[in-house]
Amino acid sequence: MKFKNFYVKPVAPDSLEPLYEISYNMWSTWDKEAERLYRRINPELFRSVKHNPVEFLHKLPPEEMERLSKDSGFIYELEKVYDKFKRYMGFEGYYTDEEGTDVPADKDDSIAYFSMEFGMHESVAIYSGGLGVLAGDYLKAASDTGIPLYGIGLLYTYGYMNQRIAIDGFQQEEYLENKWYLKPVRETLNASGEPVMFPLKIKNEDVWIKIWEIDVGKVKLYLLDTNIPQNSLSARCITDHLYVGDKHLRIQQEIILGQGGLKALDILGIKPKIFHLNEGHSAFLIIERMKKLVIDNKMSFEKAKQLIVQSTVFTTHTPVIEGNEHFDETFIREYFKHDVESLGMTLDSFLQCGRVDNSRIFWLPIFAIKYSKFRNGVSKLHGEVSRNMWKEIFPHMHDDEVPIGYVTNGVHLQTWLSMEITYLFDRYLGPDYMHRANRAEIWEGVSAIPNNEIWEAHKRRKEQLVTFVRKKLVHTLQRRGAPAKSIKKASNVLNPQFLTIGFARRFATYKRANLLLQDPERLKKILMNPQKPVQIIFAGKAHPADIAGKTIIKEILNFAVEYGLEDHVVFVEDYDMDIARHMVQGVDVWLNNPIKPLEASGTSGIKAGINGVLNLSVLDGWWPECYNGNNGWAITAGDIYSDIAQKTSAEAQQVYDLLEEEITEKYYEKSESYYPEPWVEMMKNSIYSVGKGFNMHRMLTEYYNKFYAKEFSNLDVLEKDNYKKIDEIIALNKKFHDKWNSIYIKDAFTDIESHGVNKRQSIPVEVYAYLDGMSEKDLKVEFFYSPDNNICREIELKFIEMYQDNVAKYTGSFTVTGSGEQGYNIRIRPSSDFFYELYPEYVKWFIK
Ligand SMILES: *Cc1c(COP(=O)(O)O)cnc(C)c1O
Repeated sequence: MKFKNFYVKPVAPDSLEPLYEISYNMWSTWDKEAERLYRRINPELFRSVKHNPVEFLHKLPPEEMERLSKDSGFIYELEKVYDKFKRYMGFEGYYTDEEGTDVPADKDDSIAYFSMEFGMHESVAIYSGGLGVLAGDYLKAASDTGIPLYGIGLLYTYGYMNQRIAIDGFQQEEYLENKWYLKPVRETLNASGEPVMFPLKIKNEDVWIKIWEIDVGKVKLYLLDTNIPQNSLSARCITDHLYVGDKHLRIQQEIILGQGGLKALDILGIKPKIFHLNEGHSAFLIIERMKKLVIDNKMSFEKAKQLIVQSTVFTTHTPVIEGNEHFDETFIREYFKHDVESLGMTLDSFLQCGRVDNSRIFWLPIFAIKYSKFRNGVSKLHGEVSRNMWKEIFPHMHDDEVPIGYVTNGVHLQTWLSMEITYLFDRYLGPDYMHRANRAEIWEGVSAIPNNEIWEAHKRRKEQLVTFVRKKLVHTLQRRGAPAKSIKKASNVLNPQFLTIGFARRFATYKRANLLLQDPERLKKILMNPQKPVQIIFAGKAHPADIAGKTIIKEILNFAVEYGLEDHVVFVEDYDMDIARHMVQGVDVWLNNPIKPLEASGTSGIKAGINGVLNLSVLDGWWPECYNGNNGWAITAGDIYSDIAQKTSAEAQQVYDLLEEEITEKYYEKSESYYPEPWVEMMKNSIYSVGKGFNMHRMLTEYYNKFYAKEFSNLDVLEKDNYKKIDEIIALNKKFHDKWNSIYIKDAFTDIESHGVNKRQSIPVEVYAYLDGMSEKDLKVEFFYSPDNNICREIELKFIEMYQDNVAKYTGSFTVTGSGEQGYNIRIRPSSDFFYELYPEYVKWFIK
C-alpha cells in the first residue's frame, strides 16, 4: 500500500519562537554559542540530524519542547543567543579601502555571485568540494562585513553523491534525496505569498524554474530548481545532481544557472551592478545579459558588450586546460542558435568567443575571459599558471602582461575554528575579528595566548576527533554487517596521545593520497615507532567516474590490513564538511602532497592552520605565500624533476625524512614541560600567519578593492550622459580598427653593441613609427627591456616630431642592469591604458 505524503509544521511554544527563527539562518550553524544551545537540548539527536537545526527542531518530541519552554536556565541562554543574532543582523557593514579606512558599503552597489555549488554546512548537500565551500565561506564573509552581495546557484534534489566503501574496499555511490522542508531552505514568495516561478526557453521547451532561498546571515542565496510538477519528466531532472556526466544535462544546468539566474534576479527586482562568475559554469549569464540590453533596452551590440565587460569579474580555479568547462560546438549551435541570432550575430562569430584554436570546442572560461574586465586565479602561483594557460587568448602580449591577476583564497574563521580556539580568540583577540579579521592589528593578540591554553584546546579537539572517528567506523561497519569482532576493534582504533596526520580531500589522482605508500615498509616503521608512534586519518571521495581515484582508496585500505596497521591508518567514509571540521581541528599535522602546480589554491590546509594544525605540504597553491620556516614544513624535493615518478619518489623520501628526523622529534620533545613547547610555538605561529593572511575577510576585501570598487566608480563614469563615455570608446575603436593594419614601427636604433653592454650607462633609443594620419596623442611607443627572463620593464619613449610622410620620431633611453643574456623589444599601442585594457589586440612589436 502506498501513501501520499504531506507535511505538517510543528507548533512551537511562544517562548521558543526565537529558536525557530535562528534555525532558518545559516548563522546558527557557524555561531558557536548557537551551536552549543542546540547541543545542550539533545546532543544525540543533534548529531544524528547532521547538526541541521531545522530538522533537529522538527524531530524534537513535543514533550521535550514543552519542558524546554519552561526551563528558565535554557530560556536565559536562548535569549542571550537571540540577542547576539539580532546584534549580528543589525550590524552596519563597511569595507576597508586601500588606505585602510573603513567605508560604509553603498547598498545600491550590489554584486551577484554565481556559482555551480555552495558549501555552507553539511546539512545542505549542494556542494562537492573546495569550490563550493569557498563560495559558501564567501557569502558568510560578505554577511559579516556588510557587503551587499547575492548568491545565485542551483538547488539539487540529490546533491552530490554519498560515499560508501564496500567490503572489498571499492567505493560505491549512494544518492540521497534532499528533503527541503527539513532544511534551512525556503521557497521564495512573491507579494501575494505564492512561490515564485518563471519559464525559461531551452531549445523549444519552456522549462519552469522555481526560486528558493537560504539566509546566510544577512546575505541571500537564491537557488533555482526545475523539479516541479509543471515540467516534463526530463525537465524535472535537470537539477537532480551536481556535476552530472551527461553533457546535455550539464549544459541545461548551466543555462538554468546563467540565463535563469539573471531572470530570477530580474523577477525579484534585484539590480546588481557587478556580476561575479565563480568558475566558468555560469558564463551563459553573459548571453542573457546581452539579450536584455540589446533586445529589451535597444542598445547597440558594441555598447552592450562594453557594459557587460566592465561589470563582470571572472575567477578561474582550474589549472589544467581539460579540467575547464567546455562543450563541443554542436551543443552551442543546438542550444543557442536562436539566442545568438536574435542578437544579430552569426553563430560562427559567436563560436569564436569560446575558441582557442581551430578545434571545434567552446570553452566557457574563454568566453568568460573575453567578456570580463577583471579575471583572476586563486593564488599567486595559480595566477602565473593561468596567465600561461590562457595566453593564446592574448597573442600579442608579453607573458607577464596577460591580464589575469590573482586573489589568494581564504576561509571563514567562525565556520572552521574549533569551539576551543574560538574561545581563545574571543578572549585574546577580542570580538572584532568576527567582522573585520582583515585588519592586521587584530592578529597581534595571538601572541598573548598562553602556550598551555593552546595545547589544552588542541588536546580536547584531538580527543573528540578520535571519539568521532571511532563512532563513524563502528557505524560504517554495522551498516555493512561486519562481524562483532571487527566492530569491537574499530571502537578502539587510534590513540589520542599519538602524533596524528590528517589527509582529507577529493581523491583526484593529482592529489596523490597514496604518496606515503611509496615505501610501505618504511612507513610502517614510522607508524610503529615504539617511542614516537604516528597515525594517519584519511577521508575523501573519488568522482563516481574516476576509477583511478577509487583504486587509491582501496590501496590505502589494503595497506592497513596487509601490514596489520588498522589501529594506525583509518579511512573515514563519506567526506563532508562535518568530517572536514573535525579533522582540521583535531589532527596535529595536515598533509598535502599534490603534483605541483595542479593545486590552484587548496583551502583545507588553511582551515587546519588557523586551528594550530601544522601544514606539511608541497609548495603549491596558497602555501608558498604563507610558509615561513616556523609555521609548518615544505615539501620541495620533487621540484627539480619533471618526470612524475621521480618527483613522487623524491617527495615521498623527503616526507619520510621529515617525519623521522624533525616532526616526530619535535612533537615528542617534552623535557621542559608536560607538552612540547617548541611545537606549540609553531602552532601559534601557524594560527597567526595563516589566520592573518588567509581569512575570508581579507580575501573579500581584496576582491572589493582590486575589482568591485574600481568597477563601481568606473560604471558611474560610463553611465553618465546616456553612456557618453562608452560611445567615445566605441568611436575610438572604430578609428583604430580602420587604421591599425597600416600602423607600424618602421625603424629603431639603440646602439647597444657599440656602447658595450657591461657599462652601466644610459643608452639612447630612437624610434620611427608610421602613424598613417593618426594623432601622436592616440598612440604611445614603449621600449621593452628584459634584464632576465622573469623581469620585463617598459619605458615610454618621448614623441619628438612628426614628419611629412606621417612618420613620427620618438626617443628615450634605458640603463643596463644585471648581467647575462638579456633582451629588448619595442612596441606601439594606444596611449589610453583604459582603452588598451579593453582592446589588447591593438599592439604591434618591432621585432617579430
Ligand atoms: C575545505 C574542503 C575541501 C577543499 O579542500 P582542498 O584542500 O582544497 O582539497 C573539500 N571538501 C570539503 C568537505 C571541505 O571542507
